[in-house]
Amino acid sequence: MTIDLPDFLRARLAEEDDLARRCDGNDECGKWVASSDSVDFCQVSLSGFPPTIAQHVALHDPARILREVDAKRRILSRHTLSPAGGDPELPWDDQDDCQYDGEPWPCPDLLDLALPYTDHPDYREQWY
Ligand SMILES: [Zn+2]
Repeated sequence: MTIDLPDFLRARLAEEDDLARRCDGNDECGKWVASSDSVDFCQVSLSGFPPTIAQHVALHDPARILREVDAKRRILSRHTLSPAGGDPELPWDDQDDCQYDGEPWPCPDLLDLALPYTDHPDYREQWY
């Protein structure tokens, strides 16, 4: 089965959305906060992190991840396939392209959205 890039991205965003929600990203418990070697996860605080790692962990606050997923979904929804018409008489290149920006499909914005997932088993090098 061949998966296309938008479906691949929707699946990754659904996974991140689900995980963030299971980490209470929707509740009102507050924001994950780093302080020195600890991270306050609202319901529990853990310490022993190198301070930079604590800050990095706190950046993955579930509410922030949900906002990021929403933003990426809006980007993804704008960039849709405009399939080649298959008419050899057209005066322009007859190729699949992006309806939003006219770039060859998949467009650079979608490829950029896929970059964080190059190590995922469903990622396909031929998208580039
Ligand atoms: Zn595009």
